[in-house]
Amino acid sequence: MTDIPFPILIAFTFLFGCLFVLHMHRRHQDAQRALPELADYLATHNQQAPACNRCGSANLKEMGLHDANDVRRIVSCADCNRMLYQYQREQAPESGDEA
Ligand SMILES: [Zn+2]
Repeated sequence: MTDIPFPILIAFTFLFGCLFVLHMHRRHQDAQRALPELADYLATHNQQAPACNRCGSANLKEMGLHDANDVRRIVSCADCNRMLYQYQREQAPESGDEA
């Protein structure tokens, strides 16, 4: 059905699979960097305390932009996983005392 050798097909599938994963990761990080700061988020959604603008939950979770201890924090809804805003933490906590 095709003249392309099977190992070459495997190699190409692997290569394009890796490129696709990298592309999706890059898009995800771009979306995180484009998130509003906390003050802008509160003003935009007319909130006193941050809450999810999709489901209304105040149950939020945060993570670092690049790694767990990154001072640039990305906050998202713990219930529906919507990314909400970002903020800059004063300094990273001492490594090793977090579970
Ligand atoms: Zn939500």
